[in-house]
Amino acid sequence: MKGNYFLGDKRFEVREMHLGEPGEHEVLVRNMAAGICGTDVHIYHGHKGSAEVTPPVVLGHEYSGVVEQVGSAVTSVRPGDCVTVDPNIYCGRCRYCRNGQKQFCEHLFAIGVNRDGGFAEYSMVPESQVFRMNPEIGFGAMAMAEPLACCVHGIGLSGIRTGDTVCVVGGGAIGLMMVQLALLRGAAQVVLSEPVAARREVALKLGACAAIDPTAGALKGQLAEATGRADGADVLIECVGRTAAARQAIDLCAPGGRVLLFSVPEPGAELALPLFDVYKKELTISGSFINPDSHLQAVNLLNSGRINTDLLITHTFPLAQLEDAIRMQMSAESIKVQLLPQT
Ligand SMILES: [Zn+2]
Ligand SMILES: [Zn+2]
Repeated sequence: MKGNYFLGDKRFEVREMHLGEPGEHEVLVRNMAAGICGTDVHIYHGHKGSAEVTPPVVLGHEYSGVVEQVGSAVTSVRPGDCVTVDPNIYCGRCRYCRNGQKQFCEHLFAIGVNRDGGFAEYSMVPESQVFRMNPEIGFGAMAMAEPLACCVHGIGLSGIRTGDTVCVVGGGAIGLMMVQLALLRGAAQVVLSEPVAARREVALKLGACAAIDPTAGALKGQLAEATGRADGADVLIECVGRTAAARQAIDLCAPGGRVLLFSVPEPGAELALPLFDVYKKELTISGSFINPDSHLQAVNLLNSGRINTDLLITHTFPLAQLEDAIRMQMSAESIKVQLLPQT
C-alpha cells in the first residue's frame, strides 16, 4: 500500500506504507476520496494550520472510504461499510474537554495533520472517528463531511434566526455550504458575494436569492438592491480568509446584526475595527474553530441529501498528483479539489 507523504518545504513523495493489522479498537479504511483543504494549502506553504505538523506525514483530513478490516472489539462498522472520518481526536482529560469545549483541547491531534490520513491508499483510525455513510451519495460527497461539520459548528455560532437576511462573503466550497446551511436554518434570503462568476452561478442553483460581485461596484448598494433593504444583512458569514473580506462583512452588517469570521486567516493578520459601528450597531463578531460534536450532524445532512456537494467538487486527481491538486485548489478555477487515492 502507498501513501503520498508530505516531507516539509513543499515536497511530497509517494512511499510504501506498512499499517499492519488493526488493533482492538481500530479500523482499516480503504481511502476513496480525500479533499484538499485550505489547511493543507497552509501546511504546504509552511504556515501554521489549525495544528502543528511534523513531517514526514500523510496529510488529508477530509476523506471517505470503505472499511477493509476491523479490530476484535469494533462493533459500529463492518468490512464493506462506506465511512467518513472525523479527523479530530480529543484527550478527554483537559479542562476544555471536561467543560464542553473540546475544540480547545490542550492535547488535540488530528488524523491527516499529526498522524497519517487520507492522501494514501489506506488509513488506520480509531473506531470512535468513523461514521457510516449512505453509499448512494458517492465517495466525493462523503468526503465533504469534515468541512461541512466545521460549517455546522459555525452556523450554530452565527445566530441566524428564522426569516433573517444572510450574506455570505466568499463562494468557495465553504461559502457554498454556508449558503445551504443558512437556508436550512430558515433564512428568508441568502446573498453570496463572490468575484468568480462560475461560483456565483452555483450559489444561485443552490438557492441563494442573489449573487453579487464585489469587483463590480459598491457592495452595500448591490446588497441593498438584492435584498430590498438598505441597512445591510442581519448575519454576515465571512469565508475568504483575507482582511478585506472581514472588513466587508463588518461594513455590510445591519444594526443588531452578527458577523461570523469563519475562514482561517494568516496568523498575525489584523483588522482595524470600526469601534463606533460596533458600539452604535450593537454588532456581535465571533470566530469558529473546527467541528466539536458536529460531525454526526454533517453526516446526517449528507446522507439525507439535504446538502448538495456535487456542484462543489470540480476537480479530481490521482494519488501521485497531490501537488497538482493543491495548486488547483489554490486556483479560482476550482471550488473543491479531491484526491482519489485508488487511482
Ligand atoms: Zn479542512
Ligand atoms: Zn482535551
